[in-house]
Amino acid sequence: MTSKQTAKGCEFLLAEVTKKSLFTPEDFTSEQQQIAATTEAFVNNEIFPDLELMEQQDFALVVEKLRDCAELGLFLVDIPEEFGGLELDKATSMLIAEKLGPTGSFAITCTGQTGIGSLPLVYYGTPQQKEKYLAKLITGEWIGAYCLTEPDCGSDPLSARTTATLSADGSCYQLNGVKQFITNAAFADLFTVFAKIDGKHFSAFLVERGMAGLSIGSEEKKMGLKGTSTAQVILQNVCVPVANLLGEAGKGHKIAFNVLNIGRLKLSATVTGAAKGAFSEAAKYAMERKQFGQYLASFGAIREKLADMAGTLFAAESLLYRVAGLLDERIATLDRTADDYYETYQKAIEEYAGECAMAKVFCSKTLALVVDEALQIHGGYGYVKEYPIERYYRDERVNRIFEGTNEINRLLIPALLFRRADSGDLDLWDRVRAVREQLHAKGTTEEVTTTPFGIEFSLLARLKKLFLLLVGALGENRSEQEILLALGDMAIGIFALESALLRAEKVLCIASERRKALLQATVKSVTFALVAQVQVDAARCAAYGVQEPHLAALQKTIASLAAYPVAGLLEAKQLLADAASEAGAYPF
Ligand SMILES: Cc1cc2nc3c(=O)[nH]c(=O)nc-3n(C[C@H](O)[C@H](O)[C@H](O)COP(=O)(O)OP(=O)(O)OC[C@H]3O[C@@H](n4cnc5c(N)ncnc54)[C@H](O)[C@@H]3O)c2cc1C
Repeated sequence: MTSKQTAKGCEFLLAEVTKKSLFTPEDFTSEQQQIAATTEAFVNNEIFPDLELMEQQDFALVVEKLRDCAELGLFLVDIPEEFGGLELDKATSMLIAEKLGPTGSFAITCTGQTGIGSLPLVYYGTPQQKEKYLAKLITGEWIGAYCLTEPDCGSDPLSARTTATLSADGSCYQLNGVKQFITNAAFADLFTVFAKIDGKHFSAFLVERGMAGLSIGSEEKKMGLKGTSTAQVILQNVCVPVANLLGEAGKGHKIAFNVLNIGRLKLSATVTGAAKGAFSEAAKYAMERKQFGQYLASFGAIREKLADMAGTLFAAESLLYRVAGLLDERIATLDRTADDYYETYQKAIEEYAGECAMAKVFCSKTLALVVDEALQIHGGYGYVKEYPIERYYRDERVNRIFEGTNEINRLLIPALLFRRADSGDLDLWDRVRAVREQLHAKGTTEEVTTTPFGIEFSLLARLKKLFLLLVGALGENRSEQEILLALGDMAIGIFALESALLRAEKVLCIASERRKALLQATVKSVTFALVAQVQVDAARCAAYGVQEPHLAALQKTIASLAAYPVAGLLEAKQLLADAASEAGAYPF
């Protein structure tokens, strides 16, 4: 790869990646840090004090807070300059979403507005549509909602039953159908509704709240995210002017899926922020609560949890901003003045659909781990509402369900990889052959360099080989979902590990001695956890898809390629846990 070329989506699985091409949280400019600090202060001063009222569904208050957000400029980030926006990079957009994350409900309401509620219009709207609606959305005068799901179709949105029929005089489309689980439904003014023209051509429409025939169902009584509005949007002969068709007729799938890529990345950011919030609750509690005359934070059982939470969170954060950086790098190569700018922009995002899916799955799983252990650290007090961790725990669950369930995202990863390989975009099969020959000639050992984290980078290289070896060993036997899920999980684990290692390597040379020790401890802890998981995923994949007499030999190869000769793991975890306890927070 030359310096001018940007990485191809999923290419990391086939080639070595260097730290130069990686964006990390340490790369944030002072302007980005300032935006983050402003958002954090807004959350602490304006949202947390009223969160309880919002959780009781005081939606007038929620809308008021959304307008405060707009006043602060937070709705301008993803909007083009010519329409009054700031058009900042994706890293900044994710940083804001991360800072909103600990609020749970408010973060989802807000990203519902700035992400899926506005981006279809930004990416696919005509200049007239943008003129008409964007100004209202960025000031918070209007709130947006995204209506894809239906009662009978969630993961399979292209089977939508909502129809759009052109009126006899050709002036409007009549929309009929029901949209399910729509975020912001109670107070949204503009709905991006997906419907099939003549029951066949999947398309998107901009539907105003005031259009006759549109009504909102009753609020769902949810397990968590109680401060968000989630309801059905019911369309009965709603007459939508033809000028409100968004994008091309019959091309709604492009809008639906492309916007979901950014939606998934924004969700990765909000859950990373939530995980940091839950982590702080646990770390502080462990330093306040005494049992057997000692602080909880002094028990190895609690320290191990804190270390595992911090290590995984480091990987999630590294992965999230790496993907944001990849998108920014690719977008920066586009010609902003070209007529087809938004078309190339969408292609740039689509390039990293696999990485966005990986971020969504890994970061949402990280939040699940963190809230579960954070609640456990609270003991019985974690189970009562008086402590914030109870809300974090309830709010977490849905993140593995919406923006494409984690199963759908995990399946998407190998599907994308094979599609690209088959189209010649990635030289997967050449790499598979090369790895097979290399392993045959040299065995499973990999040269270890003396550079920092040499053992871990060598292991990472072996895991990539293992992935390719398995892909080759499966041959055509890759139609079973169980096998594809295992491959997807391996890819996610490798991507997370690589992101953490590259970041640690990149920042090690500028770190203080104390920070260096912390980075080294984190690398050991997170490598140990991720490799163990990748090894299990590889074993699953082999056992499902490879038959004897090859299976036994392959199992040995898996064990050998995934071996991690780690020393000092206990001390590393203790150091990491102590840093977390001392900070009362995620220590990076
Ligand atoms: C609080 C909340 C807010 C939401 N906000 C919005 C919104 O603003 N706009 C919107 O359009 N939607 C929204 N949704 C809907 C959400 O995106 C869907 O719930 C989600 O896509 C899953 O669809 P489903 O619930 O119909 O589950 P299903 O699709 O029925 O899936 C059920 C289970 O089967 C699995 N599954 C389904 N198909 C397959 C397959 N092919 N292979 C393997 N496994 C499969 C799934 O992974 C899942 O585990 C929201 C949902 C919730 C709960």
